[in-house]
Amino acid sequence: MGRPLRDLRISVTDRCNLRCPYCMPREVFGADYQFIDRSELLTFEEITRVARIISAQGVRKIRLTGGEPLLRAGLERLVEMLAGIDGIDDIALTTNGTALAPLASSLADAGLDRVTVSLDALEEEVFRSMSDTRGPLARVLEGIDAAREAGLAPVKINMVVRRGVNDHCVVSMAEHFRGRAEVLRFIEYMDVGESNGWRLEQVVPAGEILAAIEQRWPLEALAASHEGEVASRWAYCDGLGEIGVIHSVTQPFCQGCVRARLSAEGRLYTCLFARRGHDLRALLRGGGNDSQIASRINQIWTARADRYSELRSLRQPPEAGDPGVDGAAASAQAARQAAGRVEMSYIGG
Ligand code: SAM
Ligand code: SF4
Ligand code: SF4
Repeated sequence: MGRPLRDLRISVTDRCNLRCPYCMPREVFGADYQFIDRSELLTFEEITRVARIISAQGVRKIRLTGGEPLLRAGLERLVEMLAGIDGIDDIALTTNGTALAPLASSLADAGLDRVTVSLDALEEEVFRSMSDTRGPLARVLEGIDAAREAGLAPVKINMVVRRGVNDHCVVSMAEHFRGRAEVLRFIEYMDVGESNGWRLEQVVPAGEILAAIEQRWPLEALAASHEGEVASRWAYCDGLGEIGVIHSVTQPFCQGCVRARLSAEGRLYTCLFARRGHDLRALLRGGGNDSQIASRINQIWTARADRYSELRSLRQPPEAGDPGVDGAAASAQAARQAAGRVEMSYIGG
C-alpha cells in the first residue's frame, strides 16, 4: 500500500496501576495475571538501539506508552537516550497522568517534547467507573498542570467515549478544556484485544460527538498538522482553541498508517489489531548486528498488508444502533476470539 514508516510507539511495560474496563478489565487482569517477566523486558539500551536503527529508516517521531509508562523506573534516562539519536525530532509520552506531576519537569529536562494524558471524565464517579480505580482524579489534573508548566505543551487529553458510561460528559469535558492550553481529543471505543467485550453499540460515532459539541459551539475543520495524523482536527469558530476526534471505527485511516509498535519484550507489530509480533529481541540478544536488524525491520514493514479497521467497516456498517448490529457484533466477537489479538496494554495505544 506504499505506506512509509514514520512513527514508532514503544511500550515500556505491560503493567498498569489502573484497570480501565475497556483496556484491562479486572476480571482478566487480576492478581494472578502473568505480566511480562522483568528479565524479558527490553533494557533501555536495547530500546535505544532499535530506535536508532529504525530512525535510519525514516522514523522521526517516537511515543512512549504501555501499560502505564511512568511505572517503568527511571524513564527519564530512556528519554535522554532517545533524545540523543540523530533524526528523532519528536519524543512524546502517553500516560494516565496519575504519576505525572512529580516527574513532568525531569522528563522535560531529559528531552521529552510532548505529553498526552488519558482522562475520560471530570466527574469523580464517572472517572472511577471508566478507570476502575478509587479515584486519583485530582492527581491526574495536577499532572496535566505540571506538564504544561514544564513546557510539555500543548498537553493533549485523550477521552475514550463509551455509550452509557461517559458519553454524557462529552460537552462538559469540551467546556472545561475550551480556552485552555490543552487540546482535547475524543476517541471512538475500539475492539482492541480479546478481553474488553467490545460491542459496536457501545461506540459513540465521531459524528455524534462532533454534533453534540457543535450544537453549543460552532466548529470549523482544520487541516492535518502532519503526515499520518490520526485525529481529525476542529477549531472552535470563536477562537477558543481546538479539539480532535479519532474515528478509527467509523472512518478508518489504514491508508495513511505510518506507525510501527514495539512491545515491551521486543516484538515489532505493524498493526494495533495484529495477532502476532515479530521478535526483534532474539536478534538483539543473539548477536545480530545493526544491518541485520535493519534489514529484518525493513522486511517486516514492506511485507505488511494490515488494514484491520478498513476490513471491520466492510464487515459491518459503522452506524451503532442500526438494526442488525447485535448480529454483526457477535460475528466480530467470534472473529476476534479465533484471531487471538494482542491486548492494548501490551502493545501500547
Ligand atoms: N496507560 C497509558 C494511558 O492510559 O494513557 C498509556 C497506554 S493506553 C493503552 C493508551 C491509550 O489507549 C489511552 O489513551 C487509552 O485511553 C487508549 N485506549 C485503551 N483501550 C482503548 C480502547 N479499547 N479503545 C480506544 N482507546 C483505548
Ligand atoms: Fe492502564 Fe492506560 Fe489501559 Fe487505562 S488505558 S488500563 S491507564 S494502560
Ligand atoms: Fe494501522 Fe491497523 Fe489501525 Fe489500520 S487498523 S490504522 S493498519 S493500526
